[in-house]
Amino acid sequence: MYLPEEILLIKNGELALKGLNRHTFEETLMRNLRWRLKPAGKFNIRKAQSTIYIEPMDDEADLDMAAERVATVFGVAAFSRAKRVEKSMDAILEAVPAYLSQELADAATFKVEAKRSDKSFPLKSPDICAQTGAAVLEQFPHLRVDVHDPDVLIMVEVRDYGAYIHTAQLAGAGGMPIGTGGRAAILISGGIDSPVAAYMIAKRGIALTAIHFASPPYTSERAEQKVVDLLTQVAQYAGRMSLCIVPFTHIQESIRDNCPEELFTLLMRRFMMRLSSAVAKRENCEALITGESVGQVASQTIPAIACTDAVATLPTLRPVIGMDKEEIVTIARKIGTFPISIQPFEDCCTVFTPKHPRLRPTVEMLEETEKALDIETLEAEALAHLRFRTIRAD
Ligand code: ATP
Ligand code: MG
Repeated sequence: MYLPEEILLIKNGELALKGLNRHTFEETLMRNLRWRLKPAGKFNIRKAQSTIYIEPMDDEADLDMAAERVATVFGVAAFSRAKRVEKSMDAILEAVPAYLSQELADAATFKVEAKRSDKSFPLKSPDICAQTGAAVLEQFPHLRVDVHDPDVLIMVEVRDYGAYIHTAQLAGAGGMPIGTGGRAAILISGGIDSPVAAYMIAKRGIALTAIHFASPPYTSERAEQKVVDLLTQVAQYAGRMSLCIVPFTHIQESIRDNCPEELFTLLMRRFMMRLSSAVAKRENCEALITGESVGQVASQTIPAIACTDAVATLPTLRPVIGMDKEEIVTIARKIGTFPISIQPFEDCCTVFTPKHPRLRPTVEMLEETEKALDIETLEAEALAHLRFRTIRAD
């Protein structure tokens, strides 16, 4: 049997699982870990007690890449790298100060915890701790033991085919495993906000389908590629998704030619909500997601939201609704979408932006204006010309 030098240990998230049972959570998490880690090589991914073990199965398996990828998998609260040594006290005492030399040199305090699942091991846990602590102090005399709040927590686990040494954990991506929360449709533009909204909802375990409205020739192929690039980045966390591109040119031209300019944005957004509701239902989505933040622009005031909500036939989730632009940008940078979002390619909204949008719109006002449009025909035409693309993480 191949015995790896180093493995990854994973701690699950959401301690207080209420709606979802732990079994579903863990099974889905392991499935997601398996597909995310495929490019890193062959790993044995298994569960024992409440820990998931990720073990390289040969020398080709790339543990650095695996660790990088594990950090993007929702449902992983924390993880650590662990060193495997032979199951003897000599081996443990030699390996601990060497393997953790960097952490121990930088720390002021430490604590050792031991777990002995192999009960045939001659020493009991308190003895393993005492001997390991003494060995550490001998090599790092500046350290003190602090059992309550140590800088470095050294874990020694004696298990079936080896002893494992690791420290406290690195932060995982948190959240819930993708697929445990159903599916929702993200209305994705080329902006900063909607990719962040996508990430935030995916973090709650919800699989995504993306919908983008494009208005060629007013919007370019490059603008569509920008959306694909943004989603490819989001897919690092959210997993594979399909992108539905809805042709919007004819609808926007009809609005331009038949309606008062001050209502352009809201009329357009009502088309988006109606069409997205239809597409989302076909794609088995249970909700719509947008990147709206209240007060950010004229079309995102509460009265404006009331006007667009009125035509959505699925619940609309707006995860960034109460966030400042700065807070949204911080997340966009963290997930790597920000540099893509700021590339200058025109969006269908910017093409027909009114100079003076209506500040207190009402549903009645919009319904009245919409009488000048053949909504049914325009929407049927758009729905007959949907295009689909598949988005995969790199
Ligand atoms: P973003 O940064 O996400 O573009 P924004 O602040 O620029 O948001 P708007 O352009 O008013 O706001 O759009 C509000 C929301 O409407 C977006 O967050 C997105 O969910 C949706 N949306 C806007 N344009 C499109 C589009 N072309 N295709 C699909 N959804 C869109
Ligand atoms: Mg926008």
